[in-house]
Amino acid sequence: LSDRLGGVFDRLTKQGALSEDDVTAAMREVRVALLEADVSLPVARNFVKAVTAKATGAAVTKSVSPGQQVVKIVHDELIRVLQGEDAPEALRIDNPPSAILMVGLQGSGKTTTTAKLALRLKDREKKRVLMASLDTNRPAAMEQLAILGQQIGVDTLPIVMGQTAVQIAQRAKTQASLGGYDVVLLDTAGRLHIDEALMAQVQQVRDIASPRETLLVVDGLTGQDAVNVATEFDAKVGVTGVVLTRMDGDGRGGAALSMRAVTGKPIRFVGLGEKMDALETFDAERVAGRILGMGDIVALVEKAQQVLEVEQAERMMKRFQKGLFNMNDLRGQLEQMQKMGGMQSVMGMMPGMAKMAKQAESAGYDDKVVRHQIALINSMTKRERANPDLLQASRKKRIAAGAGMEVSDLNKLLKMQKQMADTMKKLGKMGKGGMMKQAMR
Ligand code: GDP
Ligand code: MG
Repeated sequence: LSDRLGGVFDRLTKQGALSEDDVTAAMREVRVALLEADVSLPVARNFVKAVTAKATGAAVTKSVSPGQQVVKIVHDELIRVLQGEDAPEALRIDNPPSAILMVGLQGSGKTTTTAKLALRLKDREKKRVLMASLDTNRPAAMEQLAILGQQIGVDTLPIVMGQTAVQIAQRAKTQASLGGYDVVLLDTAGRLHIDEALMAQVQQVRDIASPRETLLVVDGLTGQDAVNVATEFDAKVGVTGVVLTRMDGDGRGGAALSMRAVTGKPIRFVGLGEKMDALETFDAERVAGRILGMGDIVALVEKAQQVLEVEQAERMMKRFQKGLFNMNDLRGQLEQMQKMGGMQSVMGMMPGMAKMAKQAESAGYDDKVVRHQIALINSMTKRERANPDLLQASRKKRIAAGAGMEVSDLNKLLKMQKQMADTMKKLGKMGKGGMMKQAMR
């Protein structure tokens, strides 16, 4: 996608608002590229519609090209769709024993994901987890889960041959209650294709287990098909979330976009390999990057990022011009500094700051100090950050303790903030635009 867009965007060179023609040309490419990334046709079409509406007439931020602006709009919209409207809540497993039903086609990665998820719940959420394989079609599949369980130190329901999936589910439920487990993960059987028998079985299991979460495991490489699978499973058993596996492969992640857009279900996790720790929470930004194109996507997203940073910088500049510089501003500067690799490089760019930076560095001001200062600021309340003058002895003690630092460290930070506020005030008086504008470029 980035290659394609690059071509179109090179032509979008004039400044000002994006014209309709600019946008139309760019969107043709976006559509083709989405299809190449395995996004399903209706989803690609809707996506383009949404982006077109947002891009047409959008003001182009000063100091970025219209091309970069369009990339940012596409990127933001991808993230918006991938993330859904509301931030995903945690898995609903607060009612022990909470059942999580794992469903999906055979070979999608259900068994592997079940074990990965069990390990995650055990290690990160300190849950007592029980796993049970309901895959009565293939005894080897039950064995597989038991072996994984041993490997990660998670209990599996003892295998009893000859039981139906429903009977096993019942036994798992009983065992989970008796054994005091927090979570019971049910790994169901899959078929190569969706069929009535499979759906009927999963429905029966669902009715017995009454899971709070039903996670659909889908092979992220399957693209278009994945959407049909998801729609079908959701209609028949009710899916609460999706896990995309094989996202370590060379697929483009288009399935993620389709899945989210068509089912409206949150993507909870992505599988990034065969190892037990290769499960990560879904990161919309990362997948958006993937869909945008694999090769020089980093450069592209960085460009889009510049847009954001310029916007932020412009906002900040307005505050500085008014002589406003509180702890929030200081934290922003410190974080920026961390990102850009050191004090000298950032402060050196700001007039009047270069000298201060040198002084600071010779006084032993390094990255560790920056980290500690950010910790101190984080330990303040919102009000204190906005108005550091509030900080009297008792508050100082609390803040320093909260950050694991001394009050003297906090005093140094306060002095620094005052100095910077003073400098900002002076610079602000030197006239709007002018030097500050130069500095923030
Ligand atoms: P199931 O039939 O749905 O239970 O699928 P399995 O869990 O048995 O997985 C099938 C194969 O896919 C196994 O060889 C797994 O190691 C592999 N697999 C599962 N998840 C991933 C993943 O995220 N990345 C990669 N590369 N392989 C995976
Ligand atoms: Mg399996």
